Amino acid sequence: MLSLREVSVAYDGKGAVEDVSLELADGEVLALLGPSGSGKSTLLRAVAGLEPATGTISWDGRDLRGVPTHKRGFALMFQDGQLFSHLTVANNVAYPMRLRRIPGAERGKRVVDLLELVGLGGYQDRLPGTLSGGERQRVALARALAVEPRLLLLDEPLSALDAGLRERLAGDLRRILHEAGTTALMVTHDQEEAFAVADRIALLRDGRLVQEGSLQDVWARPVDTWSALFLGYAR
Ligand code: ATP
Ligand code: MG
Repeated sequence: MLSLREVSVAYDGKGAVEDVSLELADGEVLALLGPSGSGKSTLLRAVAGLEPATGTISWDGRDLRGVPTHKRGFALMFQDGQLFSHLTVANNVAYPMRLRRIPGAERGKRVVDLLELVGLGGYQDRLPGTLSGGERQRVALARALAVEPRLLLLDEPLSALDAGLRERLAGDLRRILHEAGTTALMVTHDQEEAFAVADRIALLRDGRLVQEGSLQDVWARPVDTWSALFLGYAR
């Protein structure tokens, strides 16, 4: 379980994230939702260990302060997937398994299973340059899941895609994360995407946690007018 206690991050004395406390249970998918500049990516980077923060970030009760990113057991996926363009789809997905010295036979089998999971069975030998944006994001997701991270951190994983594709992939992402039993923290500025993918929503505004709860709670009881408008009441 991930636990944040009064986590703050400041740049040049100016708070980007202020006093955020949150918990994320195993197997749960939480969306960090908020407008541009609200501190979502900063908070995600702090959880990943890429940003110095005050307060406490812990996993199963163990304080992660001082634990370097690669030892946290988390995987990261960003907006543009960042595939290796010279590697085939299979080798992109296998890459993190190679780094961890998972034997070739097992690697091969897991690549097949993962590509099946993300709906790309038979794409093994393709190069990223020959894939659509949505297909590339699916490969990036398979790669992120390859090492069975105890937590998957997603920063706007769908926002580079066009609206129709984003909607389809949001539903797929939800299914894939649940099928794999992955615990995930997903950053998005898009309320529809948050509702389509996540089990719970944490709403951020100006670096502060405004509201947090299940989809139903957050939708049914926005804490103030700003939340209501941001959640789409006025649409
Ligand atoms: P977006 O939806 O646009 O990606 P965000 O919610 O992810 O926004 P952050 O990137 O976390 O927002 O930024 C939060 C605040 O911190 C912003 O005011 C931003 O200008 C500031 N900030 C972020 N990174 C840095 C940095 N490396 N140096 C200085 N200020 C930063
Ligand atoms: Mg961001």
